Amino acid sequence: MNQQIALEFPNSISLHIKREDLIHPFVSGNKFRKLKYNLLQAKAEHQEILLTFGGAFSNHIAAVAFAGKEKGFKTIGIIRGDELKDKISENPTLTFAQSCGMQFEFVSRESYRLKNEIPFLENLKQKFGDFYLIPEGGTNALAIKGCEEILNEKDADFDYICCSIGTGGTISGLINSILPHQKVLGFPALKGDFLTDEIRNIVINNNWELLTDYHFGGYGKVNSELIAFINQFFKENNIPLDPIYTGKMVFGVIDLIHRNYFPAQSKILLIHTGGIQGIQGMNMKLRNKQLPTIDINV
Ligand SMILES: *Cc1c(COP(=O)(O)O)cnc(C)c1O
Repeated sequence: MNQQIALEFPNSISLHIKREDLIHPFVSGNKFRKLKYNLLQAKAEHQEILLTFGGAFSNHIAAVAFAGKEKGFKTIGIIRGDELKDKISENPTLTFAQSCGMQFEFVSRESYRLKNEIPFLENLKQKFGDFYLIPEGGTNALAIKGCEEILNEKDADFDYICCSIGTGGTISGLINSILPHQKVLGFPALKGDFLTDEIRNIVINNNWELLTDYHFGGYGKVNSELIAFINQFFKENNIPLDPIYTGKMVFGVIDLIHRNYFPAQSKILLIHTGGIQGIQGMNMKLRNKQLPTIDINV
């Protein structure tokens, strides 16, 4: 569903948002898209276990746990940080994943870095038996194929499609599915420009650009300006944004509108990829630091 943002913008610019966050209250919309063809592939291979990786507040971990339960897979989450082992009940993401039946293996940050190496994976096979491996963040070729289904024929009128970027899977699917007059703008949620090369190697056209100034200090980092923006946007539009991904992207797009980045009369479509489950975890961290929290009931 595309919803118009009621705010007034200069130069007759219009802003709509595709509510992929409404696909599920706790599971990010783009994570469902990324899992769709992977789950079909796992079934075709007669796999019974899905195994994947993630941090303590990972939207992807929540999505795999939930989708695995729905589709009858056992799920195993390799979680970064062995100190979390005794703190599952304090962590909303892990509590949710566990309630979906996910089994955890907590590993130190050092071991976690080796997660794509053969010995690490062999160890896991010995421990858990054969499994279908889904990479961290869920991005692989089948995930990109799923994200090519985010846009549909009703979106043909838009000039710009804007999304947040983590691993680059979602934007790659969008880029592969746009029409010749459209352009995709990506807003990395993390620092560094390595993503440009990674995305260039995957996609089939050049109508895209990354705006790298809206990471707010890096992955998972926020400041009071961003939190105030998310709260204000919710008050004005009744649309919740998450602090890790979509909040930064929407902040960036509105900032660019006011900096005259977009030509007059541009029609812009924001992709709301979800991430709302991360608000609780972020609010815990903000409360610990006695900082203002996100006022969105989730
Ligand atoms: C994972 C995630 C992203 C980033 O998607 P990638 O395909 O990894 O680039 C964006 N928004 C939300 C809410 C996410 O959970």
